[in-house]
Amino acid sequence: MRKPVIAGNWKMYKLLGEAVDTALALKPLVANANHCEVVIAPVFTALKTVADRLEGSNIGVAAQDCSTDSDEGAHTGEVTASMLRDVGAKYVIVGHSERRQFYCETDTMVNKKCQAALAANLNVILCIGERLEQREEGIAERVVNGQLSGGLSGLTASDLDRIIVAYEPVWAIGTGRTATPEQAQEMHAFIRRVFADRYSDQAASEIRILYGGSVKPDNIAGLMSQKDIDGALVGGASLQAQSFAKIVNYKSGEE
Ligand code: PEP
Repeated sequence: MRKPVIAGNWKMYKLLGEAVDTALALKPLVANANHCEVVIAPVFTALKTVADRLEGSNIGVAAQDCSTDSDEGAHTGEVTASMLRDVGAKYVIVGHSERRQFYCETDTMVNKKCQAALAANLNVILCIGERLEQREEGIAERVVNGQLSGGLSGLTASDLDRIIVAYEPVWAIGTGRTATPEQAQEMHAFIRRVFADRYSDQAASEIRILYGGSVKPDNIAGLMSQKDIDGALVGGASLQAQSFAKIVNYKSGEE
């Protein structure tokens, strides 16, 4: 059984006090959510304080990025995966479309970040997804396949225990335009087939594939009803504890 993951990506929002307030407000609201892993990804500057304040809770903390380099060194502005682990992160988001689009991240860099994160014992949330023009051109699967081949290069079947894939069609991120559950399911099934071809049927059946792109309290249940959707990576709707808790608690039908 694949345990769902509901992860909130706070992007470049929240001063330290706001991050702590949101995390502490979320804690009781999701305390009974045993059906899924709950993850929040604050900015780097809030990671340690938020992780400390959530210690002993069922909420894991993720970083939003890490360096391609595993070793410390003269790389101004970079943070290694082990530094993130050191301050309490258990997960790291890698290859988010905003990093690919605005910071020129390539699949090679994404792969190095995956390798660095695995070496530091972090769980990786590997983001992939096509742009609108690529979907319209009919090459969405080819794009996603290429991102998987590049991002997973050199990773073995045993590394997959720490990999979570997030399929995030770029046209659905922050646009209010969600993929329909059927559109998402179709791509998730394709991604699972890629894992079967690349690794094995077992790997394909175990890999967790999250959907991301304008997930909200009112569309999460439809998405989660699809057999190959194992959770969500949530941006905007994760910034407020109440709305993120409604997404986490999709099973209980709480509104
Ligand atoms: C994201 O940042 O990964 C994301 C999916 O954002 P949003 O939910 O706001 O579309």
